Amino acid sequence: MSHHFQNYVAGKWVPAKSGKTVENRNPADDGLVGVFPDSAAEDLNEAVAAARDAYGRWRKVPAPARALKIQRAGELMRERKEEISRQMTREMGKVVAETRGDTQEGIDTAFYMAGEGRRLFGVTTPVELPDKFGMAVRRPIGVAGLITPWNFPMAIPTWKVFPALVAGDTVVIKPATYTPATVCELGLILEEAGVPPGVFNIVCGSGGTVGEAILGHPDVDVISFTGSSAVGRRINEVGGKNLKRVSLELGGKNAQIVLADADLDLALEGVLWGAYGTTGQRCTATSRLILEEKIHDEFVNMLVGAAAALKLGNGLDESFQVGPLVSAAQRETVHSYVDVGKEEGAELALGGEFYEEGECKKGFFYKPTVFLGVKPTMRIAREEIFGPVLSVLKVGDADEAIRVLNDSSYGLSSSIYTRDVNLAFRAVEDIEAGITYVNGPTIGAEVHLPFGGVKDTGNGHREGSFTVFDIFTEWKSVYFDYSGKLQRAQIDVEE
Ligand code: NAD
Repeated sequence: MSHHFQNYVAGKWVPAKSGKTVENRNPADDGLVGVFPDSAAEDLNEAVAAARDAYGRWRKVPAPARALKIQRAGELMRERKEEISRQMTREMGKVVAETRGDTQEGIDTAFYMAGEGRRLFGVTTPVELPDKFGMAVRRPIGVAGLITPWNFPMAIPTWKVFPALVAGDTVVIKPATYTPATVCELGLILEEAGVPPGVFNIVCGSGGTVGEAILGHPDVDVISFTGSSAVGRRINEVGGKNLKRVSLELGGKNAQIVLADADLDLALEGVLWGAYGTTGQRCTATSRLILEEKIHDEFVNMLVGAAAALKLGNGLDESFQVGPLVSAAQRETVHSYVDVGKEEGAELALGGEFYEEGECKKGFFYKPTVFLGVKPTMRIAREEIFGPVLSVLKVGDADEAIRVLNDSSYGLSSSIYTRDVNLAFRAVEDIEAGITYVNGPTIGAEVHLPFGGVKDTGNGHREGSFTVFDIFTEWKSVYFDYSGKLQRAQIDVEE
């Protein structure tokens, strides 16, 4: 397999015009994953021009025909699932069981969106005047600029690309700098599925150059971004100035509540998966565990024992459950939060160190970490860490648990374990988050339900489901007057 990847512009695989490249290495063992174009604004400009040119033709292709290309892409992804997933593990480290899940999410999105090509439902409604008909239809917006993070290298790009293409938009995507290989794989698949040249374009490069060039480009009509709240703010500022539609899916500080009546074994499985799956590098990761005091000590014992037993290693070996962090920088950030936690007076009950046994010393492994005695005001209870660090908070009852959960600037995912159905429904009503799981971990979104969060987690949009079309389409209201005369709304109406 060649290690040399290129941009995909106007249906051709091309290097950056400057000829500059950048290497990506496996965070588990430092092996070379690939050499990628280190693109600049001039590369982005060419891709946007190709997308603009293709838009005029693509929007005229009937939506069911556009969707058939996405269906074909889903079939190809299914055939290549194993190869895509293994490359993804090499690219960003998470274990292969999880990268298979990531690829599957892309496949699910392809088939779901293929069906949406025959729906894209609009609205018909009565109108106030006789011999007149009213409806509202979805129209494409134009060129979509997509900027994606590295933690879901296939799922997140497909959440954006497939609905945009079904809607009739054309696309320029800038993948995360750590994970361009998976997006290049997606490009090969869309090419083979018969998506015409210029409809889908990839420009690899950094956020500071290619990302910024997308924000400022007058021919990009909608920007869809997933990433950190800090970069999201910047994108909203520039997009706001240019009156662009901007959709933002940002960070989280998700909590799992365990009440005294819960099935504790089930809650334990949930928190292990939520906190340490993807090495804690999920926007929906469980970062806070809120325990009712009656079961606090018992549950903490169970948790510390089980977290200590998790096996760390190269994600391509299926005997391991936790892979490395994505980079040395990410590991330093996580470690600095452990120092913050200690300084703030939380009790380090497990981990808090690099993991460097055997082959793991070549990678960026970090031990599963548990802090006890965490107070809601501490930084480790408030800031997104994006690593395998769990902050445990003790509360007196369900009301306090929900208050503590809501005491956050983020609001993406949330979870409550209880057998009390009344309490569970109340929690669903009172928890401030875009997603709430009852008796399940903070992780587990399916592609046909809306995905997104409240507060600093975003700006009100929802990906997944049909709600994603509110990002990638414009509404047009249409009136047909077949009366043959001028009828004035609000004036010629009989009371
Ligand atoms: P990041 O914000 O550093 O980068 C995301 C993308 O933005 C990358 O492609 C990056 O190159 C680009 N970028 C950086 N600076 C830019 C700029 N000035 N202009 C334009 N683009 C720029 O995030 P990350 O480290 O890749 O991902 C982790 C973050 O993503 C976490 O905060 C996580 O919670 C969040 N995330 C959110 C969701 C969600 O759906 N809510 C899903 C996954 C990840």
